This record gives sequence, structure tokens and C-alpha cells, in this order.
Amino acid sequence: MIEIKDIYKTYSLGQIEVKALDGVSLKISSGEFVAIMGASGSGKSTLMHILGLLDRPDTGSYFLGDREITRLTDETLAALRNRVMGFVFQQFHLLPRMTALENAELPLIYAGKRHLAEKARQEIAGVGLQDRLRHRPSELSGGQQQRAAIARALVNDPLIILADEPTGNLDSKSKEEIISILKNLNQKGKTLIIVTHEKEVAMHARRVIQMRDGRIISDQRMDQERMLSEVVALEDGLLDTILAKPRKAAGQTKFLDYLRQAVSAMLSHKMRSLLSILGILIGVASVIAMLALGQGAKESIEKQVASLGSNLLLIRPGSTRSQGVALQAGTVTRFTFSDLAAISKLTDEVVRAYPSVTGRGQIVHADKNWNTQVEGVGVPYAQMRAAIPAAGRFFNEQEVRLREKVALLGMTVARELFGDANPVGETIKINLVNFRVIGVLPEKGASAFRDQDDIVIIPVTTAMYRVLGRQYIDSIFVEAKAPELLQPAQEAISALIRKEHRLDEDDNDSFQIRNMADIKNTLEATTKTMSLLLGSIAAISLLVGGIGIMNIMLVSVTERTREIGLRKAIGANNRDILAQFLIESVLMALIGGLSGIFLGGGVSLLINIFAGWAVRVSPFSVALAAIFSLVIGVAFGIWPAHKASRLDPIEALRYE
Ligand code: ADP
Ligand code: MG
Repeated sequence: MIEIKDIYKTYSLGQIEVKALDGVSLKISSGEFVAIMGASGSGKSTLMHILGLLDRPDTGSYFLGDREITRLTDETLAALRNRVMGFVFQQFHLLPRMTALENAELPLIYAGKRHLAEKARQEIAGVGLQDRLRHRPSELSGGQQQRAAIARALVNDPLIILADEPTGNLDSKSKEEIISILKNLNQKGKTLIIVTHEKEVAMHARRVIQMRDGRIISDQRMDQERMLSEVVALEDGLLDTILAKPRKAAGQTKFLDYLRQAVSAMLSHKMRSLLSILGILIGVASVIAMLALGQGAKESIEKQVASLGSNLLLIRPGSTRSQGVALQAGTVTRFTFSDLAAISKLTDEVVRAYPSVTGRGQIVHADKNWNTQVEGVGVPYAQMRAAIPAAGRFFNEQEVRLREKVALLGMTVARELFGDANPVGETIKINLVNFRVIGVLPEKGASAFRDQDDIVIIPVTTAMYRVLGRQYIDSIFVEAKAPELLQPAQEAISALIRKEHRLDEDDNDSFQIRNMADIKNTLEATTKTMSLLLGSIAAISLLVGGIGIMNIMLVSVTERTREIGLRKAIGANNRDILAQFLIESVLMALIGGLSGIFLGGGVSLLINIFAGWAVRVSPFSVALAAIFSLVIGVAFGIWPAHKASRLDPIEALRYE
């Protein structure tokens, strides 16, 4: 059944070359019971690993049936390990987090025969462990562990059982039990190859091979070779099917099994999994919250601009270029009330206009203090800015003329100074000057960038001469008659100002006229920049979360190298290992992503409730975050998973 020819295997340890196998040839027939003996270091294990397809020889050929299998693919070798070979290790190599039964079921998963789970129970019962099904390896004695391992080796009905010093770690009573189990199997027709030190064990075998320094030095048969013609026929059929189709199609059940494995792996490292899930969670939550803030700001600005009306023009001194820079004399046009009056008389294009001065003011009422924006305006402000008071009234022309000390409060200011009480009729101090509150402005809303209700409106004259100490108007707001008259109005006003202020034809810098489209663009550009900034910070935190997952996966791959080796030894191929680890990282990313979406939504809601900023969680940002976390799970899981899948079974098993 097995024939190997001229097998060499050399390990090089720095300068020294160790010839573990030095030209070994061997033929083993079906139904044999072979014991391999020899001093420690004589190459017995190396030979067993090559026979069991856990290791590849440097040179030499290996025939199974009458097929050369030295150059088979990983997939085929895995299938052969899974269904033809059953390997029993000296160290048992049971997976510690699983029960005896689950350990015995593992090879079934890789054979795609999960539905035969009953078989694992039978094999466990067959080795006398039926009352220890649900025990974990740490709750079993050495002998019991080895019996579970034998059940695992048997579960796929292999043709050949290979056991490398199966009794080496056991007491004498367990030894006898294990030997009698193995002997029994041989009597039922299984080919049995066993490495042992002990004469008593070898006594049961019908063929004893002695090794020394990587060579076979004697090969004795104890009795007649037994040929089982039926077994041979069966085995040829099995080999053909495996070689023709190494993978059993059972994708769905396999997937469910991988999922179970992933969940149990995550549960057995709760803290570690939690931390990496947390990384993704925070990343996704911040992306959602940041995008919600940006979107909210954008929408509230759009609303604000829409409420201004599209026919508005804004006239200001100086150019955009000279703003914020120390201005040279003569480059700035200062506006006065006569400019305002002249503009208001351009009745062909202009409906009305109001002047505006702004500054900061310290507002005091009783023991409350509030610093806010103070804006002095004219009466048309109420109509032009949709600021008809929600409570009380706006001031009139006479009050403006008389520089009356009357004020209208924005909602935020009213709330800060008066709480729920009605402020109308109360007295406040603005920069130490007494004012009477005559109204409260309608609520306009807030974004992350600006609270439009944090403002106090007073007559422009009062603001200039009594509070802020100004000689000139900061800016003039003009309402054109119709959208198509914006351009003519702009030209008429420009000409008027040039004439009044005796400016040169080419002196374009001393004042500027902007329409709402310009203002909207500027505001939108600002929000866009802010959103982009917030978004990239969030994206970075998501990336950091992803790297966290990768780190955890790498650690977990390294820590579970022996588990990977064992899985491969019992028939997992590269793809199985890849899938298992990938599912694990995708699962973590998904859990993190989903809870991140909820957290992000919750945080946005809290920002809205407590800070009063406009937020908008868009389906787009949710989809983006979900896809992103999935991609991160795959992208950062692939490398560790790939690394895990490339390991040689025996290298991985040896890993400490
Ligand atoms: P046995 O099982 O008969 O005790 P092994 O087959 O395990 O012997 O080892 C045979 C020889 O190969 C020993 O000299 C051992 O030191 C060497 N050897 C085995 N595995 C390795 C390895 N992974 N790296 C280097 N040398 C090894
Ligand atoms: Mg050994």
C-alpha cells in the first residue's frame, strides 16, 4: 500500500547538517502492524511525518497505492491526510478550548461530513470515553486524552493509523489500554504503523523495523504477511475519488462550522477581541458622528441662506484681499447714513436697505452674565431677515432716530439670561449701558460652526454712538426688486458709491458688493473644508482601528500556530485555514462596525440634544461606515490569515 524509495531529509542548523533520514526505502502492505524502534534521534519521527504527509522529503519518492504522490497539491495532500491517514501524536495535540467530542468531530468538518457527527460519538464510545464527552482536555487524564485523540484519528475511517510514541507520556495502565485499542484496530483491518521505545509494545507488532542515524538497520517479520484483498480493492477506489476530487463540496455547512469556530475563538479571548472590536467601533462611530455634524452644518447653512432671500446684496468696505491686513489710508471706503439714504433712493432696482454694525457685548441681567454678538441694525432688518419677533415687537424708525436703548434677544441669549421666564419688559445691561428688552427673535437654529440665536439686536444708532463707539456703518444690506435686477442694482450702487466718494474708475478695492450666491459659496466652502477635516480625522481613527484588528489577528495567529498545525495534520487545507481566520476578522469588524453605527447615531443625537447643533445622520454615511468596516476586516485579516495558511503542518505543530 505504501512504498517509499530513497528518502532523504536533512536539517541544517547553522553550520551543522543533521541527516535525519539518510536514504530510507520501505514497503508497507495493507493490514500490517509495523513497529519502528530505535534510539532517540535516529529519525523515527521524521520518517513518520513523511509517511503521514505532514512533512515533505528533500528527495526520494512516495507511492500510495501505485501512485506517486510527492508532487501533489496542498489540497490533495490535505484530503489524503484527512481521509486516508489517521495520525496519533505523543503529545495528543487536542485543541484545549474544545470538548473531547468536538475534538473528535474536527476531521469531519474538513471532510465536509459534518452531518455524520454521530460518528464522532461512536468513535469516542469505541475508545471507552462515552462518559467524558463534554470534558475538555484539561479535565481529562493523559490516557483519556490519548483515547480522544485516537477517536479523532478514526473518525473519517482512515486506511492507515500512524502513531508516534502514543504511549510515551502515559503511565503503564493507560499504556496497556492504548496498545490494546490500537491492536484491535489492526485486527479489524487497519494498517498500523507505530513508533515506540518499549519492547512490550513492539512484541504485539508483526513486523519490527530498527533505525539508527537515519537508516533502517533491520526489518524483521514476526509471522506471515497477511494480505487482505478486500481492503486493497476498497482503498484503490477511495484513492481514485480523492485524487480526482480532493474537495468535498459542502460549502454551506463548512461556513457554519467556521463561524462557530470563529465565535468560540473570540469568546475564549474576550478581552483581546473586545479591544479590537472597540478600535473599529470608535472609528466607525466617529465617522458617523463627524459626517452627521458636517451634513447638519451644511443643511443649516442652506436653510439660513434660503431664509435670507435670494435678492439680497451685501455692501462692505475694503476688498476681500485687504481684510485682516493693516489697511492703508485711502484704500477703504467708509459708509455713512447718507450712503444708505442714497442707495434707498435707487427705487428702480432697490426695495429697501438696512445698515449694520457688529461687535461683542457683555450682557448682564441680575446675577447672570453672557458674552455675545451685538448687532445694530435698521428697521427693515425685521422684514429682510425674517426676524419678526416671536414675542414682543421690533423697534421703529423713531426709536432708531432717538438712539433708544431697546434690545431684541436671540433665543440662546434669552435662555441664558432668563431661563424659561419672559424677558420682554425686563432691563439688561449691554457693556454697562441699561437696555429695555422689547422682544425675542424667532429661533434660527445652530450648526457646529455657529449659533445664529446667540445674538442681541439693537438700533443701529444706539449701537454706534452709545455701545460700540463707531463713526461709520460696517455694512449695508440691500434687497433688490427681483433676482434679474441683482446685476443692474449692483452696477447702480457701485456707480453711486464711486460718485459720492469720488473714487477713480479703476479703484475696485475700496469697497465690495456681494450677492447671496457669493455668500452661499463662501459658507459652503467653509463647511466643506470643516467636514473634510472632521472626516479625515474620523477616517484615521478607523484606520487605526483596522491596524488594531490586524495586530490582534497576527498575535492570535502566532499564538495559535500549533492549532493551525493540528488542523492541517487532520486534513485542513490552506483555504480552510484562510477562511477560518478571515471569517474571524470579518466577524470582529462587523460587530465593531454595527455597534459603531449605533454609537455614532447615538452620539449625534446627544450632540443635537445637549449642544443644540444641527446633525444629520445620512444613509450614505451609514452605508459608507458599514462597507468601510467590512473592507477593513477583510483587508487587515487577509495578511495574518494568509500567513497562517502557508505554514507547513509539522513546522506549525513544532512551534513553541
Ligand atoms: P526520533 O523521533 O527518532 O527521536 P527525529 O526524527 O525526531 O528522531 O529526529 C532525527 C534527527 O533530526 C535528530 O537528530 C533531530 O535532532 C533532528 N531534527 C528533527 N527535527 C528537526 C528540526 N525541526 N530541525 C533540526 N533538526 C531536527
Ligand atoms: Mg520522535
